Amino acid sequence: MIRDYDVAIVGGGIVGCYAALHLAKAGHKVGLFEKGRIAGEQSSRNWGFVRLQGRDPAEIPLMIEGKRLWERLEAEIGETVDWRQGGNLVLADTKERLGQFEDWLAVAKTFQVDSRMVTPAEAAEVVPGLRTDAVVGGLHTPSDGQAEPEKAAPAIAEAARRAGAHIETGCAVDRIEVADGRVTGLETESGPVRAGAVILCAGAWTKHMLRGVGVRMPQLWMRASVARTSPSGRDPMATGVWAGVAFRQRIDGSFNIAGGTQADHDIMADTLLDGISFLPLLRMHNQMLKLHFGAPFFDFLGVRLSQDALRRALRRHRALDPTPNPKSVAASFQKLKDSVADLGDIHIAKTWAGYIDFTPDFIPVIDRLDRPEGLVVAAGLSGHGFGMGPITGRLAAELAVEGKPSLDIDAFRLARFSDGAKIVARNVI
Ligand SMILES: Cc1cc2nc3c(=O)[nH]c(=O)nc-3n(C[C@H](O)[C@H](O)[C@H](O)COP(=O)(O)OP(=O)(O)OC[C@H]3O[C@@H](n4cnc5c(N)ncnc54)[C@H](O)[C@@H]3O)c2cc1C
Repeated sequence: MIRDYDVAIVGGGIVGCYAALHLAKAGHKVGLFEKGRIAGEQSSRNWGFVRLQGRDPAEIPLMIEGKRLWERLEAEIGETVDWRQGGNLVLADTKERLGQFEDWLAVAKTFQVDSRMVTPAEAAEVVPGLRTDAVVGGLHTPSDGQAEPEKAAPAIAEAARRAGAHIETGCAVDRIEVADGRVTGLETESGPVRAGAVILCAGAWTKHMLRGVGVRMPQLWMRASVARTSPSGRDPMATGVWAGVAFRQRIDGSFNIAGGTQADHDIMADTLLDGISFLPLLRMHNQMLKLHFGAPFFDFLGVRLSQDALRRALRRHRALDPTPNPKSVAASFQKLKDSVADLGDIHIAKTWAGYIDFTPDFIPVIDRLDRPEGLVVAAGLSGHGFGMGPITGRLAAELAVEGKPSLDIDAFRLARFSDGAKIVARNVI
């Protein structure tokens, strides 16, 4: 039996789940298909920062609205996601880095944001016990927040289900079906689906799914390692901090920590074939980037070559679960202990990693394509899409059913990579 939806969604990360909720609440018939479990990839593995601070100026209006969605989210879905609006603080240890923050703030102020420069002493007031001897200053945004990634997208998906969405997990989408230049539905692991529009928010897999309909999207993966400590004796602080180590104290007192200064890239066929689009970005970050060649190259080689191999890989990797970098984890833990006083006797309780999907300018693609008509792409959130997930999902939903979004998203069109636009990464964090 062919199932029929107004909108079919590929991917159950935070973007897909919020799109499903928005559509179901508006009375649309929506089906979401996820190859593994809800939020099995980036959306449950991230640090949990919901920040506007340091973003590309094009993202600031989206994130202003995005934060309004987060402020209302728990009331909207009737469940807690451990939302706390305790601010975000990023520290600089050189004058050059501080200058980048000042330049960003000059632009951000035109959007009336509450970000401000802070002295080392002011930073230590924001986060008591923070050691700031090697710090020259920082940037602080009091209205930024945080939430628990393991809770957020699953709770949104449940709310979408209650609102009438069909949410199917363990169901890979093998192909986006197209006839006469427009999408007609999906071929899924549980059979065919007909749909008036398709939202492709498949995170790291998006470019591979797009290749099946003859569309190119430059997108690479970065392996990001995270650790969680045992609960610390400190009273839980609600400010997310980036001070050479990124850390966020959770409600139970434990810390999520990650190396803010190192990024691992597993070389794959895409690195070699698409790497040229990323050269300016790689040059900017060459000091923090570490390249690795090994098993992932061979594991994902076929995906680049055939849609049949992609089909098999979607089943083999129900959730991408890369190996965390032990050196990066150990360095983050040491840096946390050097940066914060009174942590008590804590140890590493858990480590994990995730593949971040990123674009050459480190901002997403949020676009309704001309060809195939009816296909909305919302992906490439470049390591900061947990915070922007709900607003991205809402914009994708608007594009799918109304054809036009409620905010200006021209900067996020896919064609910027081919229409001669200048591709520059403008984020400073
Ligand atoms: C370690 C780490 C730290 C991060 N820290 C932060 C942070 O602090 N703040 C922040 O804002 N962002 C952060 N991010 C980034 C953020 O997690 C992502 O940008 C965001 O979660 C992306 O959401 P998504 O819905 O686009 O993709 P994903 O969460 O990756 O979801 C895509 C889903 O699509 C599914 N899928 C793919 N292909 C198919 C298919 N063919 N059929 C069916 N299902 C399919 C996948 O299984 C996956 O569940 C971090 C990311 C990582 C990895």
